Amino acid sequence: MTTTATLPGSPFIAYAAHSQGQHLHVEGVCLADLAREHGTPLFVYSKAAMLSALAAYQRGFAGRKAHICYAMKANSSLAVLQVFAQAGCGFDIVSGGELTRVLAAGGDPAKVIFSGVGKTRAEMQQALNTGIGCFNVESEAELDVLSDVATGLGVQAPVSLRVNPNVDAKTHPYISTGLKGNKFGISHERALQVYQHAASLPGLKVVGIDCHIGSQITETAPYLDAMDRILDLVAEVEAAGITIHHIDFGGGLGINYNGDKPPEADALWAQLLTKLDARGYGQRQLMIEPGRSLVGNAGVCLTEVVFTKPGEQKNFCIVDAAMNDLPRPAMYEAFHQIVPVAPRAGEVVTYDVVGPVCESGDWLGRDRQLVVQSGDVLAVLSAGAYCMSMASNYNTRGRAAEVLVDGDKAHLIRQRESAFDTFALEQLIGV
Ligand SMILES: *Cc1c(COP(=O)(O)O)cnc(C)c1O
Repeated sequence: MTTTATLPGSPFIAYAAHSQGQHLHVEGVCLADLAREHGTPLFVYSKAAMLSALAAYQRGFAGRKAHICYAMKANSSLAVLQVFAQAGCGFDIVSGGELTRVLAAGGDPAKVIFSGVGKTRAEMQQALNTGIGCFNVESEAELDVLSDVATGLGVQAPVSLRVNPNVDAKTHPYISTGLKGNKFGISHERALQVYQHAASLPGLKVVGIDCHIGSQITETAPYLDAMDRILDLVAEVEAAGITIHHIDFGGGLGINYNGDKPPEADALWAQLLTKLDARGYGQRQLMIEPGRSLVGNAGVCLTEVVFTKPGEQKNFCIVDAAMNDLPRPAMYEAFHQIVPVAPRAGEVVTYDVVGPVCESGDWLGRDRQLVVQSGDVLAVLSAGAYCMSMASNYNTRGRAAEVLVDGDKAHLIRQRESAFDTFALEQLIGV
């Protein structure tokens, strides 16, 4: 494929020759064709890009005992889960609903780990009945309740404690999770005591330790710091007679949205494994929970320009995708590159690219230089993670359709929601 512009992210999403000039493709499929066939907004994912992101982790862990559990909240569409399940991945889940999805996609419950600060009794029961691999417990109260639920079912729940290593992942405050002020995890200082408590409870079996320090992390240092803190604790807990069978280092590795330069997964793990070896833990059972870095740059969202609206201070490019489809800009002021799928010649204009939702926060990109007319299709890049999985029906907008591309085949993996779908569970009251 020949590239006319440098796009962040995946080599599987690039401009390539087409009868009418250079058009953006996902693998062998032309995005302009897909937009015509399925309409917009439309998410399009590359299977090869997902497997290539996974392969970087697999290379990094070659020769080690390591489980990769895809953090499915990044993108929980069934066919995406199916791709990772078939590639041998386990799943990091944060709700009973996600567990139901894993099973529907053919995932192995024994390879599921259950994270999250607010697991309910019903979710604990569901997960115990399904036989998941491990509960990543985030508080002392959760330990007691989980032991009680497991005892009631006549089983023991495998548990890992999520320890808060108190390191700064240097990311956006909303996606930083490893600092003392965060709601996540058990404080490093209390961890030994909490392990002793866990070991004393009849319904629990201590199997591991875990941490997760944040998301969109683009530096190696926070991982190295967190690893040191976690290994200190493993030594302390094992000295107290409690065996830690696996060490789980969480997820959080960033992707390139706009010139970001996170380490490659294999390079990051080469460094982390050097430290692990030096400290004598290199042959332990390891786990990781990557989400964004497996899917973020494997997807785009196609959107059609509805109107252009020139203004005194700003020009607006109004598109048919909105904050309900792509919530990251409104939520975190996140940046996504926006490019035409079929570039045209003409005058470059600076636009704010905005959606039709009735909120000033409904913007997808600010001050973007584009040559566009209404009817053109734009691709919002790096939209594979935390977009569709966070989408809503705000403004009674049906959620977008999704396509998974595999080579030159395009599979529709989710139909577009109709307005009727959005209120199918609602009822009028009797008169
Ligand atoms: C969200 C989350 C992840 C994945 O984070 P990414 O930044 O998407 O890699 C992993 N573990 C836990 C506990 C999480 O909450």
